[in-house]
Amino acid sequence: MSFIEMKNICKKYVGADKNSVTDFNLNIEEKEFIAFVGPSGCGKSTTLRMIAGFEEITSGELKIGGKVMNETAPRDRGIAMVFQNYALYPHMTVEKNISYGLKNMKVPADEIKKKVDWAVKILGLEEYRKRKPKNLSGGQRQRVALGRAIVKNQKVFLMDEPLSNLDAKLRVSMRSEISKLHRELGSTTIYVTHDQVEAMTMADRIVIMKDGIVQQVGKPMELYEHPVNKFVAGFIGSPQMNFYDVTVDGNTVQFADGSKIILPENIIAKLGGKKDGLILGIRGEDIKLDAQNIDLYKDSVQHAVVENTEVMGNENNLYFNFGGVSTVARVSKYEISQIGDRIDFVFSPARIHFFDKATEKSLF
Ligand code: ADP
Ligand code: MG
Repeated sequence: MSFIEMKNICKKYVGADKNSVTDFNLNIEEKEFIAFVGPSGCGKSTTLRMIAGFEEITSGELKIGGKVMNETAPRDRGIAMVFQNYALYPHMTVEKNISYGLKNMKVPADEIKKKVDWAVKILGLEEYRKRKPKNLSGGQRQRVALGRAIVKNQKVFLMDEPLSNLDAKLRVSMRSEISKLHRELGSTTIYVTHDQVEAMTMADRIVIMKDGIVQQVGKPMELYEHPVNKFVAGFIGSPQMNFYDVTVDGNTVQFADGSKIILPENIIAKLGGKKDGLILGIRGEDIKLDAQNIDLYKDSVQHAVVENTEVMGNENNLYFNFGGVSTVARVSKYEISQIGDRIDFVFSPARIHFFDKATEKSLF
């Protein structure tokens, strides 16, 4: 038995002509950190709100701790939730904001004090206890919102895009703070985000959704290395995976612009004889410009002229036209190229993905 069990959960909003979530199936183990990720409107918040009990489950079954929760009131589900728009009470101090919910739950005063002491310590808010929200930074306010949730000491912690109102730098530091908090509290956590980097860096497992349907569930590197379809391959990873329409003849892969590469037998064999209606995918870091790889795959060396560069310092993205589409290669800072440079490159054969163009499913 898993701690949270979701079976064929569907949501159709009243008056809507189609489901917002269809047949969501997932088992979550105790203490796991799960991220729901996907583009805006794919059903992440709807799913989270059904778990929380703020949204009715149209069909399917939700169990928490072995008990069916479909009809259980939110306050009786053993959950705490942090929203994107976590309105704090402006006239209350940090500690009052944190303790307010507990007071409502009629928790004894000495226990409230203990919990608030613990929360401000764990969140680094000790010196701000007496401040009001308007005198706090965005990150501090977000920590107060987290504090309000963690003092409830619930087994399940739900977060819906809690960092999306913060600036980029703060998001990165809050990311590791939330991960640390999760390790310390050990609460089962579901974290909703549209940001694949947040999902990749924080989650034990990622659930990636599109149009209300779960596409794949797996550990971050499983999704990165073995996406089940083109959507997952394109959504996870930055810059995005390069995709090309190709045909295969023998061991030769031909691109739309006539470019050809030769692939080893073992890779071609995995295509099961399929010759056209194929999409080849390769990540930027698997396009190689170094002498060793060029020499290793000399039968398949390609040429292009760099059209744009993104210099990140530690590594650079080179943009050029290849195979009829704009392509990005991610190279180390030691392989500096300028706009207008002619480059030679190869695709690392073992890192190539193939998708069926009609179904967009991965072929291996
Ligand atoms: P996400 O959180 O992934 O951005 P949502 O769960 O908010 O997506 O929305 C999923 C779909 O359900 C969207 O098409 C959205 O327009 C629709 N939706 C969300 N809330 C409601 C609602 N209260 N009534 C009707 N449709 C809704
Ligand atoms: Mg949402």
